[in-house]
Amino acid sequence: MRTYDKLFIGGRWTAPATSQVIEVVSPHTEEVIAAVPEGTEADIDRAVEAARNAFDNGPWPRMSPDERLAILTNFSALYSSRMPEMAALITEEMGSPITFSNIAQAPTPWMILNAFLQIGATYPWEETRQGVFGSDVIVRREPVGVVGAIIPWNVPQFTAMSKLAPALVAGCTIVLKPAQETPLDGMLMAEMIEAAGIPEGVVSIVPAGRDVGEYLVRHPGVDKIAFTGSTAVGRKIGAICGEQLKRVSLELGGKSAGIVLDDADLGVLTEGLKLASLMNNGQACVAQSRILASRNRYDEVVDAISSMVSGLNVGDPADPATEIGPLVARRQQERVEKYIALGQEEGARVTVGGNGRPSGIERGWYVQPTVFANANNDMRIAREEIFGPVITVIPYEDEDDAVRIANDSDYGLAGSVWTNDTDHAVEIARRVRTGTYAVNTYVMDFIAPFGGYKSSGIGREFGKEGLEQYLEYKSIIPKLG
Ligand code: NAD
Repeated sequence: MRTYDKLFIGGRWTAPATSQVIEVVSPHTEEVIAAVPEGTEADIDRAVEAARNAFDNGPWPRMSPDERLAILTNFSALYSSRMPEMAALITEEMGSPITFSNIAQAPTPWMILNAFLQIGATYPWEETRQGVFGSDVIVRREPVGVVGAIIPWNVPQFTAMSKLAPALVAGCTIVLKPAQETPLDGMLMAEMIEAAGIPEGVVSIVPAGRDVGEYLVRHPGVDKIAFTGSTAVGRKIGAICGEQLKRVSLELGGKSAGIVLDDADLGVLTEGLKLASLMNNGQACVAQSRILASRNRYDEVVDAISSMVSGLNVGDPADPATEIGPLVARRQQERVEKYIALGQEEGARVTVGGNGRPSGIERGWYVQPTVFANANNDMRIAREEIFGPVITVIPYEDEDDAVRIANDSDYGLAGSVWTNDTDHAVEIARRVRTGTYAVNTYVMDFIAPFGGYKSSGIGREFGKEGLEQYLEYKSIIPKLG
């Protein structure tokens, strides 16, 4: 049992304002494995005050970008040395299979940081343009100010670093609020930030609940909110920020479609869907949760996917042989079970899985990996985010119909097409209204923008576009004529 008694506020380990505690419960054993102080409004006040002071008066925003990058390079080295520990911790707190934690949960934050170090090193922080009146115009990019970052539990370090890294490269100061389910990885991250030599006040990490999150959003000392989480909460946060004219970026839910063309290799498809649809026990915003198969090969595709899913190893997430672990919490298990029942009520057919515990598992928040066939795109299982190991296979008539179905969604976060013809695949990708797309896999690259069309969000993370979410532009005309 790990017990923490301090919060990382303003870059220092500080006694919390109250004795409230977050108990971290293992999704595998249902036992309490750690206790962390729960951040309250008073802790947010102290964190924002430290961030405000560090931004208004401290060295961080006033350093040259290269000086900041040198300090952040220390952070990168420290992060790299502690990735196995980070992977194990995330598996323990939220149930991601250790293989996924080792290939994604722990290394991707480090890769994101490195990508922003690379982007920051060549970014045009200040440039001179020839203006229309014949005089020069200096265009500067300046840090947006104090950032409030709010993240979910599913990929806690990935979402933390996708805000922390660009904010710090830009010269912002930041108050990060992790989700209540996953405070532990943030504590480890705080240790590294402290050791990296990032100046006082620049970073605070305050795990807390939703009300305290909303308090951070409304806080007058915060200039920008960066949020990853559900679309429902994103709408609320967007509305508050709109009222206050506070800068905001929102990374929200998805219901992404994988289009299987008739020439697809079904071996590549089924192997690829283990990650593309089922990574992190299906708890991924970018999960390819709708699989679109042509009527010509529909039964064959359903059989191939069902056979892959029935062979998955479900069990202890710490075991390297495990492919599907438990869901994060009982609430999430109940949510997925509700959708499995709903799909059947709507007339879809369960080909593998269904409700009830996976065989041989007596405790923990497990569900059976499930495939739905005979589904259509109007069903709620095809329209709403289930956030668990559930794949819905929907038939299409022809390619135009496939693109139409892919686009017939409130969301537009990710997508994929499965085919042997790469050029044709890119043509399909151009027609789908979604933020990222890949062929015969699903993957994103941290040097390129990532984010959502439609209800999947506003703004982009990663790439220079991701850095620009943390910058204001200033135009200066030094001399007219
Ligand atoms: P959630 O929206 O319930 O919570 C996310 C975070 O917001 C938590 O830290 C929570 O405490 C906080 N929060 C909740 N209500 C709030 C409020 N009113 N004001 C301020 N903060 C509040 O989401 P979740 O269940 O933790 O995460 C799953 C969701 O996250 C899914 O919808 C998933 O698609 C989405 N997600 C999106 C991306 C992306 O990059 N687009 C990445 C990962 C997860």
